[in-house]
Amino acid sequence: MGKTILCACEDVPLSEVGRAFARGHRDLESVKRYTGFGTGPCQGKSCLNAVVKELLRLGATPAEITPFTARPPVQPVTFGTLAALDPETLPLDEGVPEPVRPPPPLPAPSGPLPARADVVIVGGGILGLSLAYQLTLRGMRDVVVLERSYLNSGASGRNGGGVRAQWSTPTMVRLGLRSLQLFRSFAGETGVNGWFRRGGYLFLAPDGSQVKRLERNLTVQREQGMATRILTPDQACEVVPELDRSRFVAASWNPDDGVVFPWPFLWGYAAAAQARGATVRTFSPVTGFEISGGLVRAVETAAGRIRCDTVVNAGGAWSPEVARLAGVSLPNRPTRHEILVSGPLKPWLGPLVSSLGTGLYFSQSQRGEIVGGMGDPAEPPGVAHGSTLRFLARFSRALTGYVPATAGLPVMRQWAGNYDVTPDNNPILGAAGPANFLQLSGFVGHGFMMAPAVGELMAEWMTGREKDEIFDRFTVDRFDRGPAVGEDFIIG
Ligand SMILES: Cc1cc2nc3c(=O)[nH]c(=O)nc-3n(C[C@H](O)[C@H](O)[C@H](O)COP(=O)(O)OP(=O)(O)OC[C@H]3O[C@@H](n4cnc5c(N)ncnc54)[C@H](O)[C@@H]3O)c2cc1C
Repeated sequence: MGKTILCACEDVPLSEVGRAFARGHRDLESVKRYTGFGTGPCQGKSCLNAVVKELLRLGATPAEITPFTARPPVQPVTFGTLAALDPETLPLDEGVPEPVRPPPPLPAPSGPLPARADVVIVGGGILGLSLAYQLTLRGMRDVVVLERSYLNSGASGRNGGGVRAQWSTPTMVRLGLRSLQLFRSFAGETGVNGWFRRGGYLFLAPDGSQVKRLERNLTVQREQGMATRILTPDQACEVVPELDRSRFVAASWNPDDGVVFPWPFLWGYAAAAQARGATVRTFSPVTGFEISGGLVRAVETAAGRIRCDTVVNAGGAWSPEVARLAGVSLPNRPTRHEILVSGPLKPWLGPLVSSLGTGLYFSQSQRGEIVGGMGDPAEPPGVAHGSTLRFLARFSRALTGYVPATAGLPVMRQWAGNYDVTPDNNPILGAAGPANFLQLSGFVGHGFMMAPAVGELMAEWMTGREKDEIFDRFTVDRFDRGPAVGEDFIIG
């Protein structure tokens, strides 16, 4: 049977756009993520108009078809070419702006709001949605998630998908291990495939001080039953033969860590929570809170107010902004983190590889692309989504240094998201300000991998079951009690 192809790069047929729309993916950004259209080499240049026409025919509104920003590089450029640039001569500016200015009108909320709820969760990222799902699993039905944009618009839709239990403290190892279990069972539980791939994590130590760090972590991890081992460069090259073994002196290897494809997890959690009675509303920004007698009484949005018993701030990098609406000051600082994807290659890279010291990390996606990022110590705090040539140069230098064979591989797209950084790199949990205003933020560059476990524990606590020690340990007032011992195994 013939089929009409709208996106030739990614082989997306007309019928797929219809299916996306029927499933509630009405705006262009969501349709792009659901179908994959516009994510190939032409970045929508040849298919955007056809998709827009089809969405309008199906009933999309003008606000829903606001075009997405094309990503640099405009044409694929090889890592080798980019590595020849000197990053220090390149500005750390705002980069290519996103979204296009002036901001386009927001599409209408995805549905009506209830007049009251037991729990309102502000922010439909992985943390808010994981919590919503876990609350419904424990019998809570009146749960509302309010997301101001489309699902996957925040850091949860922009990250590298690395999920690991290699951490430096017993608490983080425990959370990582539980999340890995939940990632593995996600597809069976929700019916949505998150492409969990157990390829392991390989941390490369360039010098003796980093080896010591890995050895300290090994003790903590082995105590919790992990299979982590310290490898020599030769042994590490048995795992990834293309590595330049002269660049590192040891590696830490856990075969049970892995990589996921982030987007389906948000759709899966949202769908599963809604199937159990929760309400998830996109394009529904929270604009304020009604507070009296030391409690939040209602959440305000342009589409109306919701009276509620409890509010959860899961606003990610915007959580300080959300908290300010309740008169609460949080110490979180959003910080841009850039990332990219290459053209596809046949499968050659099993684990996610990360080099300590540079912050470089990269893995191979199910589609064969290299997905990788690297933090920039010069990055100032503040929400920013622009993409820079400086990042391309820094990343390409680091990658081709460790894997010279990648020099001829083209960079396909780059983008950025924001880390939600706290002073000790640990999250902020529990009440702050009004007694029923709970925080679920500050997950820096590892919130995706922590979300399943933390959502589960928070739901246990909120439904009157067990209270895990993290809800006493990671309260915001810890910063008043003096310097906290931080998690130091932050990547990127
Ligand atoms: C480039 C990059 C790579 C990363 N790589 C990894 C990785 O490999 N592994 C990993 O575990 N983590 C990684 N992270 C970190 C991870 O993505 C985040 O920690 C995690 O997604 C945070 O989830 P969240 O739900 O707190 O925030 P978000 O996903 O940002 O969700 C918060 C949501 O709140 C919404 N919101 C804000 N204000 C309001 C309002 N007033 N009303 C309603 N909604 C509002 C936002 O629109 C947003 O969708 C990476 C992050 C980045 C940026």
